[in-house]
Amino acid sequence: MIGAVDIGGTKIAVGLVDEKGRVLARAQTPTDGHNYAKGLEAIVGMLRETSAQVGTTVTGIGIGATGPVDPIRGEFGDVDFLPGWRSKNLVADLEQSFSVPTAMENDADAAALAEAGWGAGRSHTRLIYVTVGTGIGGGIILDGKLYRGVDGAHPEIGHQVLDASGPPCSCGFRGCWESLAAGPAMVAWLDRHAPAGYFERPGVTAKRICELALEGDELAQQAVEHEGYYLGLGLANLISLFTPDAIVLSGSVMKSAALFMERIQEVIRGGCRFVPAGKTELMLASLGDDSNLIGAARVWHYRFS
Ligand SMILES: [Zn+2]
Repeated sequence: MIGAVDIGGTKIAVGLVDEKGRVLARAQTPTDGHNYAKGLEAIVGMLRETSAQVGTTVTGIGIGATGPVDPIRGEFGDVDFLPGWRSKNLVADLEQSFSVPTAMENDADAAALAEAGWGAGRSHTRLIYVTVGTGIGGGIILDGKLYRGVDGAHPEIGHQVLDASGPPCSCGFRGCWESLAAGPAMVAWLDRHAPAGYFERPGVTAKRICELALEGDELAQQAVEHEGYYLGLGLANLISLFTPDAIVLSGSVMKSAALFMERIQEVIRGGCRFVPAGKTELMLASLGDDSNLIGAARVWHYRFS
């Protein structure tokens, strides 16, 4: 039984996950980015609490954390909304509290491992996991191994530049995939193109735009077309660069994937002439809302079993 810990910007979730990737108990608490000691205490408490609920003890702990993290040393890097966690070693601290082997990865890498091990990507060894929500992130698995860059660094697929004259991005460039195709980019596109008073503001989200498109709203349909185009371009780049067996799509925006898929395929077919793009399968993530906890547990299996 693996204790799974998912550390995000707004909440910390803990769960107990069995050897088939099923979540048997869960607990969560808001994240206090300034206070690591309080966070550690809450995690230890929730791990004890969920273990007691299931009537077992954990045999290992896996952590998926919003990055950057150092997966080898188990330390947090410079994360904007976790200033008090910087350089803290959660792996060492949990190993000390529970005396079980513990491992940590970036949360997108954790989810990629879960989809490759227990989810939609199970039969594929060259797989890219892409999550599209408030940002765009992902993880790359090549020949069954999680790809790591220099010093164990996690590649940022959301910051590939698709339009150098596009909107500015926090990374320093303009026109990154994330700034053109994440959920907020859909809302920003609508803001630029809708006449005053066209939409109820505030509160328009990518999800709402997708609903309006389904109801036949023409401007929302244009926003969806624009979104599909940029999703397709970013995915086409991944296909040209990696020629993977499969790309697994996840995240809140991808809950409306049916609206974008035709356009995505059309964009990919329109380019990618020199690679067998038709052989890369585009599939939806299959692990649902527990995917972060399942991913955290999979981190342990990937490292130790
Ligand atoms: Zn960027």
